[in-house]
Amino acid sequence: MILKNAKIVLENNIIIGWLEIENNIIKSINEGSTDLDGINLNENWILPGFIDCHVHGGYGVDFETGSLESYKLFSNKVVREGITSYVQGSVTNSLESNLMFMSEFKKFMNLNYKDGAKCLGIHLEGPFISPDKKGAHELSLLEKPNIQTLQKLIEASGNNIKIVTYAPDLQDGSFTKYMLENNIIPSVGHTNISFSDCERDYEIGFRHITHLFNGMSGVSQYEPGLAMFSLYKDDILCEVISDGIHINPDTLKFIYKVKGPNSICIITDAMNAKGLDDGEYKLGNLEVIKKGMKVSLKSSGVLAGAGATYDHNVRTFYSAIDNLSMTNLIKMTSINIAKQLNIFDKTGSIEVNKIADLVILDQNLNVKKTIVEGKILYESK
Ligand SMILES: [Zn+2]
Repeated sequence: MILKNAKIVLENNIIIGWLEIENNIIKSINEGSTDLDGINLNENWILPGFIDCHVHGGYGVDFETGSLESYKLFSNKVVREGITSYVQGSVTNSLESNLMFMSEFKKFMNLNYKDGAKCLGIHLEGPFISPDKKGAHELSLLEKPNIQTLQKLIEASGNNIKIVTYAPDLQDGSFTKYMLENNIIPSVGHTNISFSDCERDYEIGFRHITHLFNGMSGVSQYEPGLAMFSLYKDDILCEVISDGIHINPDTLKFIYKVKGPNSICIITDAMNAKGLDDGEYKLGNLEVIKKGMKVSLKSSGVLAGAGATYDHNVRTFYSAIDNLSMTNLIKMTSINIAKQLNIFDKTGSIEVNKIADLVILDQNLNVKKTIVEGKILYESK
């Protein structure tokens, strides 16, 4: 397959030219025009496919739906957002429920399903978080970080847990070490930890933050906490929900200024109502209301996951930052997280011999086509 007459966003520059895909691999990247038969992209953008490392679900599905068929459905639907890979988030569940969901999810992972976006594994967001910053997680099901519990979940999932959100202040560092030894990314979040208390686990090796500013203390000169620690350390990758609701667009400017494009990854944190009509839905056992892109708890109005699509969050981020280059944008949608997940040798950027996981965007950054492993799996009408 040849994609021609396109603006191709490479890791460090942009070329106007054409790209050749053979089987599932990018075979060549060329400047200028070609007489070869191909798809004319009319000067639209080709970017590496988006990678969402924190998405609970959408289109009526979430991890807690707990069925192979629904996991497939989600993978099929999410390509319309330009996503080519994702890590499926779980909320806080009982151990019994989690073991059930994990074993169903293991079946899905064993399929190596490629008729939709590729699932890279699980982002376990609960139960190892703090009651102080539990957000929409169910208080009675929270547990202190516990290696034995995690071991059970890893086993049930078929070793498919990739990221664990946890509160470092509720353990002695051994939980963090255990995750790193087991190739799991420790992601600090949903905690009221102080700036100075972050140091110990940073030394041990955490370099990932669950949705910066959400589920942690904000910027305070008297009581610096996790948000300030995350902004302070250059080598910590921060998830950012850039839906314009969880973070004010002006705060996006501030985050970008402080962190720069190399240590931000855009996420959705979307729940099962994403892509569905406004109305009442469930997040785990909790009742929520979706209105537009916003999802909140019915009982308290607290934000509960998110309802925005990945491409919406990309556009919101792009329009918040003055003169954001496309080469810097793709760091935040694909490159940084591909590096963090240790898959950057195969995907996450447009390079010869990498897997052809691509998204075609028009001038307004609307998704025109999504290509997973060299196959066009989505085309806008
Ligand atoms: Zn989440």
